[in-house]
Amino acid sequence: MSVNIVNNRRGATIWLTGLSGAGKSTLAERLAAALAQRGWAPEVLDGDVVRTHLSKGLGFSKEDRDTNIRRIAFVSNLVTKQGGAVIVAAISPYRHTRDEARELIGNFVEVFVRCPLEELVRRDVKGLYAKALRGEIANFTGVSDPYEEPLTPEVVVDTDRETVDESVAKVLAALEGAGYLESAPGLFSGLGQPHGGRLVLRQASAEALDEWDQRIARGDVPTLPVSGRVACDLELLANGGFSPLDGFLGQRDYRSVVRDLRLGNGLLWPIPIVLGVAEALAAQWRERQDIALVDDEGRALAILHLQEKFLLSGAEVRAEARGVYRTEDEAHPGVRAVYARPPVLLGGPITALRRPARPAVFEPYRLDPTETRRAFAERGWRSVVGFQTRNPVHRAHEYIIKTALESVDGLLLHPLVGETKDDDIPADVRLRCYEALLAGYFPVERVQLAVMPAAMRYAGPREAIFHALIRKNYGCTHFIVGRDHAGVGTYYGTYEAQQLLAEFSEADLGIRPLFFEHSFYCTACGSMASTKTCPHDSAHHVVLSGTMVRTLLAEGKTPPPEFSRPEVAHILIEAARAGAPV
Ligand SMILES: [Zn+2]
Repeated sequence: MSVNIVNNRRGATIWLTGLSGAGKSTLAERLAAALAQRGWAPEVLDGDVVRTHLSKGLGFSKEDRDTNIRRIAFVSNLVTKQGGAVIVAAISPYRHTRDEARELIGNFVEVFVRCPLEELVRRDVKGLYAKALRGEIANFTGVSDPYEEPLTPEVVVDTDRETVDESVAKVLAALEGAGYLESAPGLFSGLGQPHGGRLVLRQASAEALDEWDQRIARGDVPTLPVSGRVACDLELLANGGFSPLDGFLGQRDYRSVVRDLRLGNGLLWPIPIVLGVAEALAAQWRERQDIALVDDEGRALAILHLQEKFLLSGAEVRAEARGVYRTEDEAHPGVRAVYARPPVLLGGPITALRRPARPAVFEPYRLDPTETRRAFAERGWRSVVGFQTRNPVHRAHEYIIKTALESVDGLLLHPLVGETKDDDIPADVRLRCYEALLAGYFPVERVQLAVMPAAMRYAGPREAIFHALIRKNYGCTHFIVGRDHAGVGTYYGTYEAQQLLAEFSEADLGIRPLFFEHSFYCTACGSMASTKTCPHDSAHHVVLSGTMVRTLLAEGKTPPPEFSRPEVAHILIEAARAGAPV
């Protein structure tokens, strides 16, 4: 059984943009050959060739350049709609025209063919750059005419630093990742595609951001302060982590998710992503209104394009608690948050303006799905296991991770840094633990550390699916599910999350869950082991309860090295001394 969404082939336009001489035509030619080998022979629309036929007579004014690009987009769209592949190689200097093409075609993969000007001048056999730099050629893109770099291209290739083969491989990986191209035959073919087939990115362009900020400043757009939890959701809607969602759920999707763990279109989705407001507030707004969502410092994080608003009854709210959290108990932190949410839900797509503020320690690890996917592709990883954690990693977790890593290419260590309970260990302390563990005990070239901005729901089984789907969007093919995943207190059985995941097919999930049991150091085995692999009784197992560990750390004592790496223990002892919960 494998995920196969390319049987009814979706067409695609692969749009190579970049300065003259950057290597677009060469890349187009080699890419065309590579695609033909994979059974998907593309049409190539090369800018220079197009100008002798489709756009004969057009010059190089902005207007003529735009007309040329619009014609190319028109033809590309016809081919793409028929399930064909098109490779466009055209300077296409203006962002808005490329975005217009993207809008028209839909299945659009923008490849920024990047090369610094010095290198272009060096390569320039016809001496055109030299002439332009001397002021002898007007409207020469990159010198006497603007080139607007793409803001969020699907692929960036650096032709001054990589071989054509490497660039081709990057584009192929992106096509596979977005589900346009079936992965090369292999054990894990088909996995690792975004949920629903493509990453849905909602980040505004720089121009749009400016415009929205001005409209907000003028008072044209009403503002709505949102909680830290909603801010976390906005970040994942912006960066594609919540693909295929483009905003907050409407009524039909909400009901369907609560009842059936599926969106209205049938796609698996276990947790409602919603925005609640008070009735009085909701009454001021009408459908099709734009509302600025602001954080507690008044920074506009996103625009909600309101499509519908609906009031939940008390019974519906309790049904959500029961359905999603399997309890109506207010003591459950996730249920408490549902009960505290104002009762009118606003649904509609969002346009993200800026990311929520986070501690500076996270910045180097704040990678979006496009960035983790690129990092995986650059290292040639075809299978990647994701590990969700909100705790320091002790030997038991390390063993599980390494056991998984034995059979895949790479690891995404992906700690959750969104809103958690106050008594959870602070995320910056955890981050230092991961850094110490990776530095001392992992092969760096096989691990990517990045932070995941979701808020914790503590929804146990449903959240395990949620966490798996998010990691699928980040490019993982496998996901580790241990004991009591995303649980809290005694609300869920130890293996309830694994059992729920096992109810769904790999076609539904599109990511392969890896289930693990309780693991420990066994003195009789003389190694780490689990209840699956060790025959000895618990007297031989080095197991410490959470309370025992916390007591040791609070007293400044390190747990045994069979339980915790000393480097990690020292960081936790320091944190405990400074008064942090550990
Ligand atoms: Zn043993």
